[in-house]
Amino acid sequence: MRCRRCRRPAIVDVRRHNAAFCADCFVRHCRDQVARAIHHFEMIGAGERVLVAVSGGKDSLGLWDILLDLGYAADGLYLGLGIGAYSDESHRHAAGFAAARGASLVTVDLPADYGYDIERGAAAARRAPCSACGLSKRHLFNQAAVDGGFDVVATGHNLDDEAAVLFGNVLRWNTDYLGRQLPVLPPSEGFVRKVKPLIRLGEREMAAYCVVRGIDYIVEECPMAEGNRHLGYKDALNRIEEQSPGSKQAFYFGFIERTAELFRPGAVAEQAGLHPCLECGSPTTGDVCAFCALVARARQQ
Ligand code: SF4
Repeated sequence: MRCRRCRRPAIVDVRRHNAAFCADCFVRHCRDQVARAIHHFEMIGAGERVLVAVSGGKDSLGLWDILLDLGYAADGLYLGLGIGAYSDESHRHAAGFAAARGASLVTVDLPADYGYDIERGAAAARRAPCSACGLSKRHLFNQAAVDGGFDVVATGHNLDDEAAVLFGNVLRWNTDYLGRQLPVLPPSEGFVRKVKPLIRLGEREMAAYCVVRGIDYIVEECPMAEGNRHLGYKDALNRIEEQSPGSKQAFYFGFIERTAELFRPGAVAEQAGLHPCLECGSPTTGDVCAFCALVARARQQ
């Protein structure tokens, strides 16, 4: 197996591109894919400040590394979820990467700063843990970006993640979610822009990227992930991809390029009905936003 670019011995193959790369050319390939996504979808403008949501895993640390190498002013944001040893370890990896790269890491801790962990929050809100976690992350990532004067929040969702979410949304025809499942969510009153620069790279590529770059990431999955529907969707798509390389990319980019706009009016109408939360001022459809309601219920427990 030879590197597609330089013909030296290859160390990693990317079947959907029918290509293999040596270590140096693979790093270049990953940077190129991120740069291409940022440019094509106008994710980050010149001179803008980026807040990267980092979990200590391969995707978010790999993304942060690539953005720094591409010359972006990118700080990290770590959100402590209070999930026992998993949270301790993930914070250690995020802080270790920041120290090694001389980058700035903002830390928000749910138990210390808001008085609940994911388990308590889920019980209080009568939601599944991942639902309470997603709600907390969406609110606090945006809040940290607004407070810190950042222009954009970047998350480490990769092609596998996005294809699995799309698969789930299509299976149930969740048209509201389909209208929001875009690589860029534009800024609006109270919200900074959200971008997903890893959409052209798969999970396996991100793991290989971190190994090649010597990035020490947390390998263990979050213990709350067990039974998560998206893991089943990923397995199903992996079986399809195995037989037909490129299927995930065709599925996801076909949606973005040919269909996503059809679902936009619903998402835009939803945005139009927002007004400030009475507690925190964040945009919401009710008097109090879902995050403040969750915090209040968790405190009553
Ligand atoms: Fe949060 Fe669920 Fe992911 Fe764990 S698996 S980090 S609880 S969304």
